[in-house]
Amino acid sequence: PLPAGTTTELARPLTDDDVLLLRRDFPALQQQVNGHELVYLDSGATSQKPISVLDAERSFYERENSAVHRGAHTLAANATELFENARTTVARFVGARENEIVWTSNATEGLNLIAYGMSNASVGRGGADAARFVLTEGDEILTTEGEHHANLVPWQELAARTGATLRHIPVDDDGTLRMEEAERLITDRTKLVTFTHVSNVTGVINPVEELVRMAHAVGALVVLDACQSAPHRVLDLAALDVDFAVFSGHKMLAPTGIGVLYGRAELLDALPPFLTGGSMITTVTLEASGYLPAPQRFEAGTQKVSQAIALAAAIDYLSAVGMDRIERWETELGARLVDGFSAIPGVRVLGPAAGVHRAGLASVDVEGVHAHDVGQFLDDRGIAVRVGHHCAQPLHRRFGVTASTRASAYLYNTTADVDAAIDGMAAVREFFG
Ligand code: PLP
Repeated sequence: PLPAGTTTELARPLTDDDVLLLRRDFPALQQQVNGHELVYLDSGATSQKPISVLDAERSFYERENSAVHRGAHTLAANATELFENARTTVARFVGARENEIVWTSNATEGLNLIAYGMSNASVGRGGADAARFVLTEGDEILTTEGEHHANLVPWQELAARTGATLRHIPVDDDGTLRMEEAERLITDRTKLVTFTHVSNVTGVINPVEELVRMAHAVGALVVLDACQSAPHRVLDLAALDVDFAVFSGHKMLAPTGIGVLYGRAELLDALPPFLTGGSMITTVTLEASGYLPAPQRFEAGTQKVSQAIALAAAIDYLSAVGMDRIERWETELGARLVDGFSAIPGVRVLGPAAGVHRAGLASVDVEGVHAHDVGQFLDDRGIAVRVGHHCAQPLHRRFGVTASTRASAYLYNTTADVDAAIDGMAAVREFFG
């Protein structure tokens, strides 16, 4: 069934009334917290799940549960079909082909998979096919100052293992990338450029096309961290022309434990594997083994079958509402958050000034009040936000703070939710002021 809030007029922008209908699909949102209706504004960390997703996972265990790609019996065939259909659903959602979609447990694993594959290539694993991934001293990996640790630490490790140098594109005071620095830093030495599509701290949307063009002009590979974009906006990875991309299911209405690595088919087939073992081999002798083409070469061991099927259900749900409508709605909510927070004396929004286009989230520093106290105060009112460094310590350092409070919206949030967060933030200032 279609989500409760969908209408036949898919082009019509979402309204609060639509969202209130959609919200009925989310059991976790039907509860009171500390005596208040829950206002969930922490979807940047993880999203809530609609009934159709919960049902998809439960139904798999009730009916098809069995080993995929292995058994000769009917249940195994049905499970395999559902599992592979889920891959097709994901591929269509991001403008890719099925053999370009690798299941991972989350985005972090996807990034580590690329980094370890490159590390293996650099020590001669993978042979001539893997030459594109070999890093040596003098080569450079380029990331940015605004990354989540997931898109920073694996590259630090890769640099340490190969002798390559890790550099970063700095951000401006408002968190936007300094593109003139990108121009200067992307050179013949650059072998890989990796950056987030949307910042999980500021909501800034990075100029993907421009960075891809600059990276490809010097023959560098491009990795896109799509964690904060895939759940919230139309994403066409082929059109963006990135070489790899990663995202996590749990941030887009699906369960935890499932993530996606996208890679251009010819690159995935040449990248040495990360995890090895069963299900990813052609022939095995006691001495050596041959590996299957992608995606199987990266899917060693028992896979995340129910989670992948539930991710497909989540994508069906999002698609039924319409990613363009979701993006427009969240842009409105994001602007409302930024406007509202910015108007409160002593509250500083990290990132661009109000009026600058960004995703549906806002992080703030409240003068004289620790983020944990802000979070506690809001939680007492039933408002769930994220506090801390949001796994982006370098960016917080750049803003001169150690922690912030982030409100992040999704398709099930209303303008009333946003207003509750703004009122709560104003009350924080009065209470602690
Ligand atoms: N990148 C960004 C921009 C994120 O927001 C997150 C999650 O917070 C991650 C990477 C890591 O995602 P996961 O913990 O699901 O692997």
